[in-house]
Amino acid sequence: MLDYDLHCHSTVSDGLLSPTDLVARAAERGVKILSLTDHDDVAGLGEASQAAAGHGMQLINGVEISVSWRHYTLHIVGLNIDPAFLPLVEGLQGIRNGRGARAQLMADSLARCGIGGALEGAYQYAENPSLIGRTHFARFLVESGHCKDVASVFKNYLVKGKPGYVSHEWASLPDAVGWITGSGGVAVLAHPARYMCGRKKMGSTTLRELLREFVDLGGRGIEVVSGSHTPEQYAEFARYAKEFDLYASCGSDFHGPGESYRDLGRLPDFPLDCRPVWQAWEK
Ligand code: AMP
Ligand code: MN
Ligand code: MN
Ligand code: MN
Repeated sequence: MLDYDLHCHSTVSDGLLSPTDLVARAAERGVKILSLTDHDDVAGLGEASQAAAGHGMQLINGVEISVSWRHYTLHIVGLNIDPAFLPLVEGLQGIRNGRGARAQLMADSLARCGIGGALEGAYQYAENPSLIGRTHFARFLVESGHCKDVASVFKNYLVKGKPGYVSHEWASLPDAVGWITGSGGVAVLAHPARYMCGRKKMGSTTLRELLREFVDLGGRGIEVVSGSHTPEQYAEFARYAKEFDLYASCGSDFHGPGESYRDLGRLPDFPLDCRPVWQAWEK
């Protein structure tokens, strides 16, 4: 079992727990080294690192950046970043700026199919309004009785071809990787099994093109053990890690009790042959 968890969310993005409560839960579950990786914002890292010190836990500064690449939305995790690095701070600010207008368009789309009050409804779940996103809309759709749970929201709403979906231009891949590596961090491709173009999963040819480009830009890691992966996928992405000489990362992608596939920590060991991503900063 790994005592690292290098991917999770707090109320600064679309998680349900404050950074303090998230760190406490991780500590209780045996995590020794945690990275908080909120979407497009580093505002929770100060609080998280204070809380971590109180539990004798190490906090790795992290972020999960939304990226548009071809027709895909990708997530690039930055680990061991400097959250004060100005190009990173300004880049993330730029991404957040687009979220408000997108939320309005999402609400308009839901209204056209008879679901009113979604904008106000979603903002009620967004403790950090600048980070308003699909998860907040999902919680509103569940609470208002339109869907039975968050997972079913993402089958019937908010995804391509369904009500509430709005296509959006996020950061470019070169920018996201550049901000992370420029700040001294390690850029990691998050949950590679999850990328879809409409209802079609990213194929191996496209994934290889992506990884080639990612590595050429300075990307150095790939999530192998992820809350979004099956055990077969741990093995599959361990093979890609080897092929592209990438570090392997691990994270639950925990968002909240009762909402996520996996709770914090207690992640299974990497497949043999993986080089753990912490070798990049633990020397
Ligand atoms: P956004 O950045 O606003 O597009 O929201 C993306 C977030 O929506 C992800 O980080 C997840 O938290 C959530 N999400 C996307 N797809 C799913 C899904 N199939 N099930 C549960 N949550 C999802
Ligand atoms: Mn999320
Ligand atoms: Mn993600
Ligand atoms: Mn995530």
